[in-house]
Amino acid sequence: MTHHDTLFIGGEWIAPSSNQTITVVSASTEEVIGSVPEALEADVDAAVDAARRAFDDPNGWATWSPADRAAAMERFADALERRGPQVAQHVSAQNGMPIAISSAYEAAFPAVLLRYYAGVIKERTFEEEHPHMMGGTTVVRQEPLGVVGAIVPWNFPQSLAAFKYAPALAAGCTLVIKPSPETVLDSIELAEAIRESGIPEGVVNIVPGGREVGAYLVAHPRVDKISFTGSTAAGRMIGETCGRLLRPVTLELGGKSAAIILDDADLDLAKIGQDLFGATLLNNGQTCYLGTRVLAPRSRYDEVVDTFAALAGSLKIGNALDETTQIGPMASDRQRDRVEGYIAKGKAEGARVVVGGGRPSGQDKGWFVEPTIFADVDNNHTIAQEEIFGPVLSLIPYTDDADAIRIANDSDYGLGGSIWTQDRERALGVARRVQTGTIGVNHYLPDPSSPFGGVKASGLGRELSPHAISHYQQYKSIFA
Ligand code: NAD
Repeated sequence: MTHHDTLFIGGEWIAPSSNQTITVVSASTEEVIGSVPEALEADVDAAVDAARRAFDDPNGWATWSPADRAAAMERFADALERRGPQVAQHVSAQNGMPIAISSAYEAAFPAVLLRYYAGVIKERTFEEEHPHMMGGTTVVRQEPLGVVGAIVPWNFPQSLAAFKYAPALAAGCTLVIKPSPETVLDSIELAEAIRESGIPEGVVNIVPGGREVGAYLVAHPRVDKISFTGSTAAGRMIGETCGRLLRPVTLELGGKSAAIILDDADLDLAKIGQDLFGATLLNNGQTCYLGTRVLAPRSRYDEVVDTFAALAGSLKIGNALDETTQIGPMASDRQRDRVEGYIAKGKAEGARVVVGGGRPSGQDKGWFVEPTIFADVDNNHTIAQEEIFGPVLSLIPYTDDADAIRIANDSDYGLGGSIWTQDRERALGVARRVQTGTIGVNHYLPDPSSPFGGVKASGLGRELSPHAISHYQQYKSIFA
């Protein structure tokens, strides 16, 4: 049980403005596992003020040399790594992510990102001189944007926070991070790691709270940039606010990506099962980039159905804290209701349940849903068009590669996806024509050194890669 009664603001644990709390419940057992204070508007004001002071400090973080910032980020990475096991435990207990996955991602990826961005900026100055075209010299500077409001969802709370704070810190910005109410206990570990790292007070502040407090942060007059990961519906509202305020914004939103099985794919689960799972069902289907529309060639449709039925039917369902669990519960009862609503809709619209479709037996507590495979899905069905965010796959037949590409692109979204084939050149040809921000061949794994993000309703802007640093900076030209 983790009951915490202070907020991490200005480098210290301070008393909150009210006695309202967020109570966290285990997704696997439905038992209360902890609580933290709920940040309200006054707490956001205090956090933004602390971030503002830290940014405006004439000797502060923004003025440190990139090499000094890199050294502090590496200490931050070390401190986070020491806390990795506790981070994984908290994340899995809260949102139902199987602990094997949270140990591999949530406990490890933030430190990888911090070290990566530390490496990128070590040799950089963010200021260069070149000849002015009309004579003389121009000094071009990349200056940090200022105070960043970072709003994070519950599905990969630590990794997705790091997608934001690692490049923002590298750029010289300060931050106010708002975790989702479902996943707040892990942010205590994050705060402790920041304290240990020697990153100056106020550079990172954390305000656990709901959407109202998130909206307040987005519109806050002393915030300079918003970086948001979450649903497309919330992203649209945030985009509207930022448009009105002319405030730079990065939006990483939902997806309904295609896993395209080409007609020469090797469907031997002994060979591809793990990669197929990672690309379509990882984290109980609660991963934004998953290929949840499986496009299968008519010539091998039955074989593809059998392959996915075997994959989904073989997965071990259980408590997220059990090392052998492959599918844990949904993150909340609300999320389970939503997934079950889509399963009912799929059946009502005429798709055929091949495996799953209900709640697993033997789990009398926890928000579990069986991994579910729908066959005979038409791309116009609701379950093929809307993001479900659960372990539910729709198998859609296609005739030839051009038809597969047409169906893949017939979506409001464009975030991830994958192509399964034994011919890499053919895969690259298809990949070039799919409207998406990222796509994998015979697996899907985001690369810290390459841009990640979506097209269409999946978002605006990109995270990861060296480019992400420039999303937390602005250019200044000095004609000198
Ligand atoms: P959500 O949009 O409900 O909430 C995300 C975060 O935004 C939470 O911290 C929430 O409190 C806050 N929030 C909600 N409405 C807000 C508003 N109007 N103003 C400011 N803050 C607001 O999403 P969720 O249910 O927590 O997460 C699931 C969604 O996130 C899925 O749609 C998923 O695809 C998406 N997601 C996208 C990516 C990506 O990189 N593209 C990654 C993970 C999750």
